[in-house]
Amino acid sequence: MSKLIVFCAPSGSGKSTLIAHTMERLSQLSFSISATSRPPRGQERDGVEYYFLSADEMRRRIDRGEFIEWCEVYPGRYYGTLRAEVDRLLDAGRDVVLDLDVEGAANIKKIYGDRALTVFIQPPSIEELRRRLTARATDAPEVIETRIARARYELSLAPQFDHRIVNDDLRLAQDEVVETVSSFLQTP
Ligand code: ADP
Ligand code: 5GP
Repeated sequence: MSKLIVFCAPSGSGKSTLIAHTMERLSQLSFSISATSRPPRGQERDGVEYYFLSADEMRRRIDRGEFIEWCEVYPGRYYGTLRAEVDRLLDAGRDVVLDLDVEGAANIKKIYGDRALTVFIQPPSIEELRRRLTARATDAPEVIETRIARARYELSLAPQFDHRIVNDDLRLAQDEVVETVSSFLQTP
């Protein structure tokens, strides 16, 4: 039976970098594209990183029960996992990668149990996280501070994940993620 792998990390910890690497290495993985009401950032395109919807459209779809899980990560900024997206991939026999916040990860684990693996990516420290977000140069300084405040809260919930990986040396973290995911996929 195909499985789900949920990645969670404070923004700027290197989660996208590690997900991209893992998906390149393990060809049976497909990414579940979430819907969000936040505007695209940098080079992001609709239907690639996210389905970009208005807040009204998100609320309509929430009311229609189209999401397996959803949440308002920042005020007015909705994010949600589309049931149709995940079912389409699982039905096609693909193993599904999800990039979710801590609550989304906990909800997926509750729904799918042992069929899902939750992986928490940790930055080496809050200072290093701030440095990476600043170097990435995609967010205004006040947005970076909002992300740092949320990171402190998310880091406190890391113990509830199936697996935790510190992204200090990128190469080592990449190897650890690939190994963790492949061994989970090989377990019957
Ligand atoms: P996230 O998806 O968690 O928000 P990104 O993958 O966008 O984070 O990474 C944030 C920034 O940190 C990017 O510029 C990325 O290239 C850089 N980065 C990722 N991993 C490391 C690492 N181990 N050491 C130094 N910089 C890193
Ligand atoms: P970002 O704006 O940096 O892309 O994402 C902000 C946060 O929302 C991240 O923690 C990301 O993992 C989370 N997120 C993205 N999509 C979803 C989703 O469908 N559901 C939930 N619960 N969180 C999501």
